[in-house]
Amino acid sequence: MFRLKKLLNHFLSIFFPFRCLVCKNSCDYGIVLCEDCKEKLKKSIHKPQEVKDTTCDFPIYTMSSYDDFTSDLIKIIKYKPSKKLAEILGENCAEQADLKSFIKEEDVIIPVPMHEKRLEERGFNQAWVLAESYAKKVGCHFSPAIIRKRYTKPQASCNESERNNNLDNAFALSSDIIKSAFRGKRLIVVDDVATTGTTLLKSVEPLKELEAKEIIALVVSHSYKKYK
Ligand SMILES: [Zn+2]
Repeated sequence: MFRLKKLLNHFLSIFFPFRCLVCKNSCDYGIVLCEDCKEKLKKSIHKPQEVKDTTCDFPIYTMSSYDDFTSDLIKIIKYKPSKKLAEILGENCAEQADLKSFIKEEDVIIPVPMHEKRLEERGFNQAWVLAESYAKKVGCHFSPAIIRKRYTKPQASCNESERNNNLDNAFALSSDIIKSAFRGKRLIVVDDVATTGTTLLKSVEPLKELEAKEIIALVVSHSYKKYK
């Protein structure tokens, strides 16, 4: 049966060639990341480590250095765009970074939200996909507690002075949440990457009225030091 499946995949790949989205090597039908790149991804992910260089007044934890491979993979997820690749990244982070020992079952994982207009363009929110993978692995709470009120220019397209004000009043608490459910909990805000930390800083602001025990952010990688 396995042999037959392999043969069928081989046959399909002749007519419908699939290539690894990162290195462009040919892959079996339906595969978006080749085995070599999967190995590279595994090696680049480590247990969450706190970042010291940040503008945020709460801890940011990263699970990977901002090496060329990881930064390319994160860009490809957004600009191809590939939800499948985001799912693979989420599953790998959950596994390789041993999130079961970092996140407790009573913690609440909250994705950095995406505006509806951008969601329509891309089809998925990579922060949401990652957050869901982590919550599923750990068995903790998942809540889209923050929403985006305004459509904003991507932070990456802003110059330094625009970057600081671009996200002012862009985030709010979702009207669907029961605020008391968050009291005394540790809230973990999830995004794919932190650059200067401004997106995390602004998206966390609405959570401050929830009387949480602690607010932290968890990202795959950060480029702050590189950016600085
Ligand atoms: Zn590859």
